[in-house]
Order: sequence, then C-alpha cells, then structure tokens
Amino acid sequence: MKQNSKLDYPFSKRPPDGGTIEVTPNIFWLRMPLPIALNHINLWLLEGDEGWTIIDSGMATKESKTIWNNIFTKSLKKKPVEEILITHMHLDHSGLAGWLANKWNIEPHFTEKEFLETVKINNGMNDDQQRIYLDYYKKCGYDEEAQLHFIERNKYRQSLVTNLESGFQELDDQQTVKLSNGLWQIIIAQGHSPSHACLFSEENNVFICGDVLLPRITPNVSVNPAYPDGNPLKDWLDSLENIKQKIPDDVLVLPSHGYPYKGAHLRIETILKNHHDKLNKIYENIDEPKTVVELFSVLFESQINKHNIVLAVGETMSHLNYLVAESKLSKSIDKNGLYSFSRT
Ligand SMILES: [Zn+2]
Repeated sequence: MKQNSKLDYPFSKRPPDGGTIEVTPNIFWLRMPLPIALNHINLWLLEGDEGWTIIDSGMATKESKTIWNNIFTKSLKKKPVEEILITHMHLDHSGLAGWLANKWNIEPHFTEKEFLETVKINNGMNDDQQRIYLDYYKKCGYDEEAQLHFIERNKYRQSLVTNLESGFQELDDQQTVKLSNGLWQIIIAQGHSPSHACLFSEENNVFICGDVLLPRITPNVSVNPAYPDGNPLKDWLDSLENIKQKIPDDVLVLPSHGYPYKGAHLRIETILKNHHDKLNKIYENIDEPKTVVELFSVLFESQINKHNIVLAVGETMSHLNYLVAESKLSKSIDKNGLYSFSRT
C-alpha cells in the first residue's frame, strides 16, 4: 500500500454509499459498499440521450441489489440501461453482471477471458481443479488450516457472483466501442487479471481504469495455480508501459477504488518502480535457497495469515517467476516438497 501525494485529486468529497456524483458531463460516479476488507468499489454510469451504460456491477449481495434498484427508480431520469460493460472477472466488478443482464435483457460487454473466468467462479471448482490448486498451494507452503480455508473461500466466492445466462459482446484490444455517451477505446491490461479492459475517451479525456491504475494501492499480480510457471508480472509491466503510450498525462483517471485523479504517467512510473524494488529485494534476500513463505517478511509489512495468504503467495510467486524467466533464479522442489528458489 502506497500513498502518492503528488497526484492531483480534483474531488475532495466522495458520493455516500449508494449515491452518485457527476464527475464530468454525462459520467456519474456510483459508490457501492463491499462486505470485504476493501470496503467499497466505484462504478461508473454513462448517460446518453436515449439511455445509460453501466461500467462494472458490484458484488452479488442483497445490499448491492437494493442500491441498484434504487438507482434504477430514482437516478436514470426514466431512461433505460442500454449497455453493461465489465472490466474484469474479480467479484466486486463482475458479481452482479448476470443479474443486471437479466434485468435489462442485455448481453454485457466482456473480454473473452474475463467472461469465461466469471462463469468458472459461478460454476465452482470440481474436485480435479481443486486438487491442482491445492497441490500448487502446498508447494508454496500452505499449512492445513490455510488449505481448509481455501476450500471454504471458494464456496463463499461462488455465492458472490450471479449466473451469467446470456452470451456476451466481446471486447478486443484497440477496439472502439460505442457506449451511451460516445466512443470509447478499449485498452487491455494483462497481469492483474487475464485480460482486463480499460476504457479511454479521447473526447472527454477520461480513462476508466478498473483496477489497473489505482491511486493508492498497487494492484495484486498473482500467478495462476493452473499455470504455475506463468510470468504474469512480465505481462503486467508491459501492459503498464503500453498504457503510458496510449493515454495523455492530464487524463482524468476514474479508478475502481479510491478517488478520481490526474497524474496517470506518474502513477504508472510509481507502480513500475514498486515492482522493480520488490524484484531487487527478493533477489538480494536469496543469498541461500528460500521457500515462498520465507520471503513474505521481505515483501509484506503485515502478518500473513489464512485470510491474506492467497494474495501473498500470488504476489511473491509472480516476482519469483519473473526472476526465473530472466534466468536470475532457478526453481526446484526441496526435500519437504516445497518450491525452493536459488540464484543461478
Ligand atoms: Zn481486480
């Protein structure tokens, strides 16, 4: 977690939970509470002459549905929802996509990978998938308590996403998509999730970044247990460099968590530096072979427990795999069956 005091925050007040603020003509900021440690998500409503576009959905909770129903009766000026666009698969973004799609009889916009991952969460894991994930987490150092928590957590996650019964409208990188208030360019970022859609409006000079350029939190980049040798951090760093080329520094960034801000290029540089610092710290600390859990204290100030170990393992492994791909480290299995990393 890092605060960046040099960013320019044009709004000193946020909307109340369930309320909206118009941040720039025809773009409204809706704040939705979340039942997790990250206690809110920002959703965006785009107003057109004929109707509205919803960007991201909130988690599938009773409270979120009540807020949406309230918005539909009081805030849409008697115009319908025409389009729904989900930036990525994480439950706070995609949880109510199916419910909203049914309610408005619309096929939501998704990238293909994010749609398929959302469906996967909704279906739950079968025994084979669970075995693959647990095998990976055991090699990363999960104890029995953390393994049991992982199984429980999957069931809970399944309850926070609604069934996607409709098809979807596919988003591609560089595509221009017409939403209620005009044209938006899709810019895909990989690494935080498989194929996260960001939206840039040149006309409004607005960048809806989802979780990609959060102002104060460095978004989690995790190795997918189904691809234990993957290098998502490389994809993530490349995606950030690419975004920097595509958006101007003075764009108004609308993030999914925290306040809207200006200073996109500085924020990208800060996030890049954060990862390079972590890579250096890890490399310096592997003066002798180390397991994943032995590196937690190098990367995290807070105590790692069964609740946050999934993010800690993901983040640590993404940096380790990056260094392996760079041929700076090698990965093996030690006598206890744990991943062990050494300098080459
Ligand atoms: Zn996310």
